[in-house]
Amino acid sequence: MEISFKGQRALVTGAGKGIGRETVKALWASGAEVVAVSRTSEDLESLAQECPGVETVCVDLGDWPATEEALSSIGPVDLLVNNAAVAHEQPFLEITQDSFDRSFAVNTRAVIPVSQIVIRQMIERGVPGSIVNVSSQASQTALKNVAVYCASKAALDMMTKVMASELGPQKIRVNCVNPTVVMTRMGREHWSDPHKAAGFLSRIPLGCFAEVDDVVNGILFLLSDKSAMITGSCLNLDGGFMTS
Ligand code: NAP
Repeated sequence: MEISFKGQRALVTGAGKGIGRETVKALWASGAEVVAVSRTSEDLESLAQECPGVETVCVDLGDWPATEEALSSIGPVDLLVNNAAVAHEQPFLEITQDSFDRSFAVNTRAVIPVSQIVIRQMIERGVPGSIVNVSSQASQTALKNVAVYCASKAALDMMTKVMASELGPQKIRVNCVNPTVVMTRMGREHWSDPHKAAGFLSRIPLGCFAEVDDVVNGILFLLSDKSAMITGSCLNLDGGFMTS
């Protein structure tokens, strides 16, 4: 299935590393103009070198006013990927207010100002749009020691559905992808212990974790016209875990 994003402009958050970075590269290779948003400037510089023409914005998305300011003159965007997130491992009894606030600020709250800026422009221009929020299998699976992360992603699933419901009349589709473990920096931090990984893998019918490309392909599909009738969906990219 060929997907072209020629003539479209995309914005990807958390674009410095992992899934976000590969999403930028895939969108760029498919003809989109891309704005890459992340918080480590070296990552953005190397990305712009790899993909000439990619615009970069360096901001901490956990800071709402700074995010609004950084994106205030971003211009028209047709495709948005809200991907940035953090995952802190903490037993429930050790969760602090700071770690809760920080996680929700990035994983859930930041989706609001970024999407508001993009959506207002779409509505002003009278164009359709597609938004993909990168959620997680953790939104639906109780994983020990990451209660805050799981809750932030469960909230993101529901925000996705309400956004889809409100924005459908404007032909703005909003979906999320819900991957299982992917061995990015985040995945390695939590799943490098082979014993722990084996227990999880045994519950995945396909018997493997997801590759970054599996997630990127899901995101591109939901961004594209190939999914024109899909909105408000959570696309499980979990090798069958949730259905087993
Ligand atoms: P990653 O390798 O840790 O990359 C995350 C990217 O987001 C980094 O570039 C990071 O920048 C950026 N970011 C984090 N906090 C930010 C902030 N406050 N402001 C701006 N940028 C920020 O993670 P990943 O595995 O690619 O994860 C991408 C998405 O997939 C996340 O939403 C994650 O929850 C989801 N996901 C991941 C897995 C997995 O196993 N990896 C599974 C399911 C879902 P810095 O490096 O500068 O912090």
